[in-house]
Amino acid sequence: MKPNEIHSFITILREEYKKWQTPAVTIVARCNGSPFKVLISCIISLRTKDDVTALASARLFALAQTPETVANIPADEIARLIYPAGFYRTKAEQIALLSRRLVDEYGSIVPGDMDELLNFKGVGRKTANLVMTLGFGKPGICVDTHVHRICNRLGYVTTKNPEETEKVLRGQLPAEYWIEINDLLVAFGQNHCHPVSPRCSNCSVAKICDRIGVKTSR
Ligand code: SF4
Repeated sequence: MKPNEIHSFITILREEYKKWQTPAVTIVARCNGSPFKVLISCIISLRTKDDVTALASARLFALAQTPETVANIPADEIARLIYPAGFYRTKAEQIALLSRRLVDEYGSIVPGDMDELLNFKGVGRKTANLVMTLGFGKPGICVDTHVHRICNRLGYVTTKNPEETEKVLRGQLPAEYWIEINDLLVAFGQNHCHPVSPRCSNCSVAKICDRIGVKTSR
């Protein structure tokens, strides 16, 4: 895909997106999601299927939705609430510590700053970018496995890992698409351009996709 074809790509995907399942963290953000709730659901979502993330987040938020209230729940109880999310015990510890730190050091307010967010244990670039974009509506590019894979398949970037993809996208992707690129490509990756055997024969962006590295497809 040539760099200037990004505009048609996004236009087509916005239309297709309407028929796909919305990513779990996006749903949290759209349903009165505070930056704190986006942060917590993003931590739960790491290495976890979307339907599990949605239910685990809902169970925790039914009990507590702020740093103060979550900090008052023992880590064991958080683990029970977010089970069977991947690494649920580790995540529960991280959520408990992070909530306590927000209360003690940040006046219970999630900082809207990448560097500050990256200081929290369990918060990597993917989570920090998602809190910036979905939680605060600030510029950021959240590159997860779907964004990395699809941008490379299209031939829009040639990179080895998500960190490198984020760096290249920050210099190449028009700013108007930064916030929504994650949402569009996660939905596209989950519903159509799958990691294994993507649906190339019935793909609305096939004409502009270079299909780099695609060996088997449907
Ligand atoms: Fe993905 Fe295939 Fe469509 Fe390219 S043509 S975007 S590899 S499904």
